[in-house]
Amino acid sequence: MKRSGIAKKPQNGTVKPRTGAKTGRDKAKKGKPRKPVSVTASKKKAWKAFADYIKTRDALKTTGTLTHCVCVTCGGTFPVAYQKQGAYIQAGHAIDGRGKNILFDEDLVNGQCSACNCVFNGRLPEYAGIMIKKHGQEWWDEKCRFARKPAAQSWKAFMLMEIESEYAARLADLKGKA
Ligand SMILES: [Zn+2]
Repeated sequence: MKRSGIAKKPQNGTVKPRTGAKTGRDKAKKGKPRKPVSVTASKKKAWKAFADYIKTRDALKTTGTLTHCVCVTCGGTFPVAYQKQGAYIQAGHAIDGRGKNILFDEDLVNGQCSACNCVFNGRLPEYAGIMIKKHGQEWWDEKCRFARKPAAQSWKAFMLMEIESEYAARLADLKGKA
């Protein structure tokens, strides 16, 4: 079943305009022990866990350390930790847009310096060339097609929570082996 991700519109005449009076729902909200986790908040946390994993994976792969990583597009060596002045390593996508299909793609996301990622908008033409050299044109074309395709299902908070714990565990595993 195809899902558009667009919320269903209420049928005409079924929705009463809200007044200033407190509704039962408002009152119920107050007493609730926990708020449901939002997709936005879960996505932020999942991305952080995934990006930390990618940066550590590539730091180990390119410098053999946990502290420094070679940027996928410019080849410079940068600290993995955030720094106020000077570039540092981020997790950069080879295809922009951060669409659902490729947001957590381990092949398309690599350690990239903040200058290449932010100042030079990902250096996407060079990045594409590097990916094609590594994985082949056919692989790249397929990834580009998949990136443009609408996602089969919209994000749900539980999916993102699973991603977060998966990458937290894999990061711990990487660090344990380092
Ligand atoms: Zn760079």
